[in-house]
Amino acid sequence: MEPVSFQHTHSSTIKTIGIFGSTGSIGKQTLDVIRTNPSLFKATILTAHSNADLLIEQALEFFPQAVVITDTNKYNQVKLALEGKDIAVMAGEEALEEAAAMSCYEFMMAGIVGFAGLKPTLMAISNGKNIGLANKETLVVAGDVVMKMAAEKGISIIPVDSEHSAIYQCLVGEDKNPIEKIILTASGGPFFGKKPNYLVNIKREHAIQHPNWSMGAKISIDSSTLMNKGLEMIEAKWLFNLKPSQIEVVVHQQSIIHSMVQFEDGSIKAQMGLPDMKLPIQYAMAYPNRLKNDFPRYNFTKSAVLNFEPPDIKTFRNLALAIAAMHKGGNMPCILNAANEIAVYGFLKNRVGYIDMTEIIERTMATIPFIENPSLEEYFESDGEARSFAASMINI
Ligand code: NDP
Ligand code: MG
Repeated sequence: MEPVSFQHTHSSTIKTIGIFGSTGSIGKQTLDVIRTNPSLFKATILTAHSNADLLIEQALEFFPQAVVITDTNKYNQVKLALEGKDIAVMAGEEALEEAAAMSCYEFMMAGIVGFAGLKPTLMAISNGKNIGLANKETLVVAGDVVMKMAAEKGISIIPVDSEHSAIYQCLVGEDKNPIEKIILTASGGPFFGKKPNYLVNIKREHAIQHPNWSMGAKISIDSSTLMNKGLEMIEAKWLFNLKPSQIEVVVHQQSIIHSMVQFEDGSIKAQMGLPDMKLPIQYAMAYPNRLKNDFPRYNFTKSAVLNFEPPDIKTFRNLALAIAAMHKGGNMPCILNAANEIAVYGFLKNRVGYIDMTEIIERTMATIPFIENPSLEEYFESDGEARSFAASMINI
């Protein structure tokens, strides 16, 4: 006799996914998940900034209903390549918002990098879409506006950032139990243990190599400076409605524990696994289900040592600046983010030294007017002012 199976069966309806930033690290891994689960997911919108070649290749494999290329110089190339394929081709920054409002998808994978992801994500929320949020900058810049709109529309923002996905997973079934604190783990990045004088000579090619994760250029630099962890503290504050004092960062070099939640009885829950972004990506897409997969498993008996220590915020001053911005609130995280985006851009273009990035951010935070309760428009204005000021320091 066949054993009775109690395995959870998933509904047969296909979830339509709009992948904003499909040519990036998160976007490509989202497509990997879709490729292996074609009966569960279909990509119906794909967007890129300037990588037309990859966008075309993806479109010819997945046949979405629409593609967006924000760099208008690439429009003709994409249009020509997809002629007669029944795929709408759109171009320009506004087209991202237009696409975000389309009815051909139900779940947005927010995988654009930086401030550019904010407007399309807001548009998706206002159109009642659920969001898988990789783009942490969206919450750093305007977390209050985003979370308020999400609550009003009754949609879910499911984190994709591995730490926040870990916390989200730890909170399942704990609706009535307040969080005492969360513990965000940080790998420490490629310069863990280094002192300030070492940082002076760091070049792009050193900083871009992350020990545990393969990611886009901007987040790789942010991980090396620990700014990424600062942005994640602010992201967590909004996602889980926490006070700054409830958010702790611990360096855990192996990146096996992805983060932890401590409850009011002192019990701590952790979510663990090998570092692989496909797991939080597919968790967000399939939530509340877990999908069977063949990703490599963590083996406790092969690598039994897990270390933990406090972050060195004296050396990695970007984290100290982000913590200060989180405590200050208002438009300060927005200013921090804008200055950081410019500083990282300058560093990636070899126009700014590694430690100069911190100086640029610090001076921008000290210069742009503080607003305690900004409106969305004021966030946009602060972002613009902070960008111009930061750019004026590095001549870009
Ligand atoms: P990538 O740089 O690899 O990809 C960014 C994507 O956004 C690409 O599709 C890119 O298009 C597009 N893009 C870039 N600039 C613009 C713009 N101005 N307007 C519209 N689209 C744009 O980044 P990642 O995938 O690494 O990161 C994406 C987001 O996810 C970031 O916010 C990051 O912090 C977050 N995240 C990433 C993780 C990772 O493992 N990679 C982990 C946790 C969070 P094109 O390719 O044409 O340039
Ligand atoms: Mg992360």
